[in-house]
Amino acid sequence: MKKIKLFHLCIALIWFTLFYATLGCATQKGGVIHLGQEKNSADSKSESKKPGHHTESGFENFPVVQMVDKSGPAFYLRRFWHSIFLHDVPDVHYLSETQAINLRDSISGDNITWIGHTTFLIRISGMTILTDPFFSKYASPFSWGGPKRMLPPGISLDNLPPIDIILVSHNHYDHLDDVTIRKLQDKDKIQVVVPLGLKSFFKERGYTHVSELDWYDEIKINDIKFSSLPAVHHSGRNLSDHNKTLWSSWAISSSNKKLYFSGDSAYSDNIFKKIGEEFGPFDYAFVPIGAYEPRKTMKIHHMNPEEAIITGKDLQAMTLIASHWGTINLSDEPAWEPPKRFHKAGIDNGLMENNLWVMKIGETRPLAE
Ligand SMILES: [Zn+2]
Repeated sequence: MKKIKLFHLCIALIWFTLFYATLGCATQKGGVIHLGQEKNSADSKSESKKPGHHTESGFENFPVVQMVDKSGPAFYLRRFWHSIFLHDVPDVHYLSETQAINLRDSISGDNITWIGHTTFLIRISGMTILTDPFFSKYASPFSWGGPKRMLPPGISLDNLPPIDIILVSHNHYDHLDDVTIRKLQDKDKIQVVVPLGLKSFFKERGYTHVSELDWYDEIKINDIKFSSLPAVHHSGRNLSDHNKTLWSSWAISSSNKKLYFSGDSAYSDNIFKKIGEEFGPFDYAFVPIGAYEPRKTMKIHHMNPEEAIITGKDLQAMTLIASHWGTINLSDEPAWEPPKRFHKAGIDNGLMENNLWVMKIGETRPLAE
């Protein structure tokens, strides 16, 4: 038994090292990645009329420019250590599942429930959207190791309401969970909306209605329009599929509401401004506020809370909903720091208290009519 455990730990350590090493060089090209600078118009891709974010083998960030500094072995060891020994979760951070279900049942009309990380239930126009489905214990290929969930989902898979639409931002373990996708019911009824390259992932798992969209493509399902928009990120589940599928953020528009779902993104001083000008203003924007340390590595993958506030302003969003924090131990910042910095930066930037949502896991809040 002990031998098996030790074997598991060794495999997990090797996987951590490989995964984070891949993450470090993710969008790196000769030590430089591009964030925020238009490509030269003489670029061969413009000649071949390929969109800027398409490559020969997949996708890349566009427009882009910034450099990345890889983390050393100490970072991998810290991540590994924290996957075994987690912080205590304060009571104020979550509702019990019974409380969560009762609260959700008591709210009629449009609403949002935080399941954890970037997994939300969005109820608008009479339809229930499940974003970035992740319900497993570990965000990894293993059921026994990897970046670990700090607490259970706000509502378990078995107690979810019927899902009408699944919306996915990108192909990372903490945003698209194989076990969750396999276990969900009504695969022939759910409409799945994903970035380019992810259709087969769902088809292979039994889903019938899957639409994959390139950036600036749109699809309408009943009254709700989904617009696939850029994000600054990357994708991949192993060492061979890096950036083979696209990553998107999403505008979600109904007849009386406009929402923005960022999924996972680094900061950009131009992409979100453009999205705000063309698709905003938004009534609500889900912005990622966690997994930002060590900054030298993480800044190309994840925005920090202050950048999330600037992003919300660039998007012209009225209310910002904190996401991508308080669920999985992914990075070095103190686990309960992100909402404090998010709140302070929001107030410092002139946002009102009630337009800065830091939800409890399991909590449902009504959307303004
Ligand atoms: Zn990601």
